[in-house]
Amino acid sequence: MLTSQTRGARRALQLFKCTFAALLLLLLAYLFLAANPEPMFKFRTTYQNYHVWSDRPIPAGITGVLDDATRRWRTSTLYDSRTRVNIFFCYEPWRLWFYGGRFDASMGGAAAGIVVENVFIRASDIAANRIYSPGPGPIADADQRPLSYFIAHEVTHSDVARRFGRLMMLRYPMWLVEGYADYVGKGGDFDFDLNHKLFMEGDRAMNFGSSGLYREFHLKTAYLLDKQRKTLSQVFSDPPGDAQVETWLREYRPLRDFKDR
Ligand SMILES: [Zn+2]
Repeated sequence: MLTSQTRGARRALQLFKCTFAALLLLLLAYLFLAANPEPMFKFRTTYQNYHVWSDRPIPAGITGVLDDATRRWRTSTLYDSRTRVNIFFCYEPWRLWFYGGRFDASMGGAAAGIVVENVFIRASDIAANRIYSPGPGPIADADQRPLSYFIAHEVTHSDVARRFGRLMMLRYPMWLVEGYADYVGKGGDFDFDLNHKLFMEGDRAMNFGSSGLYREFHLKTAYLLDKQRKTLSQVFSDPPGDAQVETWLREYRPLRDFKDR
């Protein structure tokens, strides 16, 4: 004869099993839907290696934006013109929230998720080559970060995931993962010495924690690639510690003298 205590334990176990099965089903359903966004985006166009989907009509100006994204992307040693890129413009915020994989509708874009070719970009004014700001004002550093920047940035995350592993976001330091995406995204539009000066002065723009900008990460990555002349593979195979790079940056003497300015 079962005691009430045993019956209670069985019921608890049954409830646990049901909850676990329901959560597993929910996860599998999410993975399936998130990996197959195409049916949910009504509009589509292709250009070179880019396959573009959107929930709004895609203006002809997309080709100029993609040309500029390619110009930036070419600054990466991982660039390969045969690489397929699927871009999904998410005008309705829930799409970026759902498909971006981070359940956040405020980000500029997302990539390197379930399907490595897939890149999700927030609502944008494609003809003007800019993304719409998630807040009331314009986005920070808007001049250096047009829509083509965000595309090249996200495509670089996909490239790094292909080359250095799908778990690269977990395996490598954030300053390197985001620093390299910013490095490629900006396509050379980054004044190293000026940003180094701001870093030495402790400027807010050089602190990701307070500005949300990747300039600090970009400076560290650019220092290793352009000043120490390391290859990308060398940097990723043995990334130095954050404190070590900061020490090197403090010891670095810029070529330009800003006192005269
Ligand atoms: Zn990024």
